[in-house]
Amino acid sequence: MALDPPTGLLAVVAIHNNVLGPALGGCRCLEYPSTFAAVSDAIRLARGMTYKAAISNLPFGGGKAVLLKPPRIIDRTKYFRAFGRFLETLSGRYITAVDSGTSTADMDAIAIETSHVTNTTTHRLFSQADPSPITATGVVKGIQAAVKFKLKKNNLKGVHITVQGLGHVGYSLVQQLYALGARLTVFDIYPDAVTRVCNEFNVDSVSSLDDLLATPADVFAPCALGAVLNEKTIPKLKVPIIAGGANNQLDEDKDGDALHQAGILYAPDYVINAGGLIYVAGQYARMTESETKEKVDEIYDTLMAIFDRSIKENRATHTIADAIVEEKLRKFH
Ligand code: NAD
Repeated sequence: MALDPPTGLLAVVAIHNNVLGPALGGCRCLEYPSTFAAVSDAIRLARGMTYKAAISNLPFGGGKAVLLKPPRIIDRTKYFRAFGRFLETLSGRYITAVDSGTSTADMDAIAIETSHVTNTTTHRLFSQADPSPITATGVVKGIQAAVKFKLKKNNLKGVHITVQGLGHVGYSLVQQLYALGARLTVFDIYPDAVTRVCNEFNVDSVSSLDDLLATPADVFAPCALGAVLNEKTIPKLKVPIIAGGANNQLDEDKDGDALHQAGILYAPDYVINAGGLIYVAGQYARMTESETKEKVDEIYDTLMAIFDRSIKENRATHTIADAIVEEKLRKFH
């Protein structure tokens, strides 16, 4: 933890695992009800980063920074420079990046004090600063793998996909799936997001999440906020595949088991949505655009291996993904 009273900085860095490399993970700057809540969030998120980096074969561990946002940040540059000085004391065991409440300009301020930062304006890898289109490309790869595995189809032409959430990832996913000939039905709680997508693409929309869940389709792609797969929603689903970009899609682990028992193929969230992390890792490691895209394409094979093993061992896909990560970490330990 770091405290810098002159700038108002109160920062928590959680390093979950360094076995595969330095811990990489974003820096949140949000209001928290207590320091305990911030520390808990940092630890939980850092663990998630370890699993996401390991399953994506990235030479990084998992970490996360949480800055307890004060009521007012008087000088944002000084605030983030103070955080950068703290990072420097960790000697590269943790590398930070943009997350909720931080920006590339904040990363630039951190970079004045330490090199253990990416997502700065000079680190930019692709023409756009936003990783969401890359995340969406990884989700498309994951949907293609699931459709091949479950429906034995080699392409997405005419495959009916329902998409929940039309923000950064969901919009880009719809754009890419539409170009591949998929049939789409969409929903977002924000009506303007639905209108935008319906105006730009020939897609259907529904007016509630319940209607989306009840729509018979080939794939349900959750791209909104967490825990959409729970004991209330799973019985309503009329799809053989769930493959989308949202984090924390399962409310509880038992919901993943329920999907397995129902014969619904679930692409584990941290595997299919790793494109954003791959993009950030690529920026830090100075990978080229094509090297980064190749790494995102690997999501297809990673998921195929998980699906295969899930059938062979008759275990839910989320437990198989966790097992693969834990075996890898043990091997390198
Ligand atoms: P975003 O805020 O841009 O979009 C989220 C969208 O979901 C918004 O349009 C919102 O109105 C909608 N929404 C919220 N609750 C909803 C509900 N109950 N039903 C339908 N729509 C709802 O966020 P984003 O960057 O697109 O991220 C979406 C998800 O993907 C999040 O879970 C995020 O953690 C995850 N993710 C994003 C990235 C990335 O590169 N942006 C990478 C990995 C994972």
